[in-house]
Amino acid sequence: MVVTLLQQQKSYEYEHLPKIKFSEEKSISKQTTTTMAIISNFQNSIPTLTQEFELPSKPISGYCRVKLIRSQICNSDRRVLAGTKQSTINQSTVLGHEGIGIIEELSNNNKQNDLKIGDLVVLGPHFVEENDIYLKRGLPNLSCQMKHMGIHINGVFANKMDFPEYTLNKIIGANEIIQQTTNLNDYYDQMVLIEPLACVQRGYKLLEKQNNFNIKTIKNVLILGAGPMGIIHAIHIQKIYPNLHITITDIDPIRRKLAKHIRNLKINVVDEDYFNNDIEYDLIIVATSNRKANTIDSIRLIKNNGFILLFSGIDMKETDSRPIIGGIDIETIHRYEYSVQLINYNIKPNGIKTKSIYFIGTSGYVKEDFHTSIQELHDDFILDTQFRLYKNVITSMINKLNGYIVHDLTGIFHDITYNVPAIIPLLQLYNEDETYTDNSHFNVHNHLKILIRH
Ligand SMILES: [Zn+2]
Repeated sequence: MVVTLLQQQKSYEYEHLPKIKFSEEKSISKQTTTTMAIISNFQNSIPTLTQEFELPSKPISGYCRVKLIRSQICNSDRRVLAGTKQSTINQSTVLGHEGIGIIEELSNNNKQNDLKIGDLVVLGPHFVEENDIYLKRGLPNLSCQMKHMGIHINGVFANKMDFPEYTLNKIIGANEIIQQTTNLNDYYDQMVLIEPLACVQRGYKLLEKQNNFNIKTIKNVLILGAGPMGIIHAIHIQKIYPNLHITITDIDPIRRKLAKHIRNLKINVVDEDYFNNDIEYDLIIVATSNRKANTIDSIRLIKNNGFILLFSGIDMKETDSRPIIGGIDIETIHRYEYSVQLINYNIKPNGIKTKSIYFIGTSGYVKEDFHTSIQELHDDFILDTQFRLYKNVITSMINKLNGYIVHDLTGIFHDITYNVPAIIPLLQLYNEDETYTDNSHFNVHNHLKILIRH
């Protein structure tokens, strides 16, 4: 999950892009190898599949070659493609930022000693330079100099790719699980969720650090947004706070239907009509980029002295006004992980009803979050199949990067066959007029995670 990708992307100075030019390496070694990849030069919202993306014969210094096993589409991949038509990038970049793979080759100058050939690793999509001041403070996720996999450095939608060592995280404990499991495919499918879950976990770690937050005083929680991130929040809350009453809502009826369908997840799935003037929540998680959910619904539905966890950030164009509530810019709270208490805020423009509200921002992950995320996914995976919850987040699957069929894993939708590799239309924001299939009324985009088995 790269929740604020679009905003950052727009303000990014392209002149400062890392110059990863494999052609330079080629002139030294004279040899290259090629791999299948989904690329874009960000001039057009439609990406391209190439069979011959060039890699040097051996990874350059500080990089590792990874054979990708699983990747998945994140909505920020689509937002970046859709929002960058005017960009000045000329070089083609491999897309995608959520994935796992196996280390195939190290460079001659391997700095991170714990990385070995054959290791199962998860990619961390945020990249900061070694001397970054936020990195030194242990908060690289807050760096303004952050670079993103799939935009500034090549991403995971390739069969093989060279990644900076910094972006590789060993999946600790993988071998033990792999030795015990009878279904390796299921294990790999689950572990591609490490990065999104790491971001979700981080929010609760930040909440727990607040002096005024006491989980014993929290009874009911509302999650705004039942997309993949909203569902991951619901599963995580159920695991760490099993006594909380969880309500979840989404404007999309298909997503509400999917949420209701998840076995053993105890959530109350409701539509907008459910909320009347009396309902208020102790804790609200904003897991949608919808502006109204962030700035109006959350304020209306929070209890006096309640906590609002600003997880997703707001979809905004540069010309849009800032989302200011009682003098507080809640997008800034989100991006820089601030915590702010708004005291006696009047929520009724034509009357008086005051509330005190705690806003807690959370943005991205740090490496420690990857470790705890791996642990939680492992703990979930070793349960009996029917009690595993995280597998429900992946609802659609494409076999191979160039596969034409999107397989439905939920049993409530259908397989869909495209007349181009399915990942191409699925990386675009949903367009009702799309003509890629005969059954264009099926919208796979609003299912939950779309997985690629490489
Ligand atoms: Zn993402």
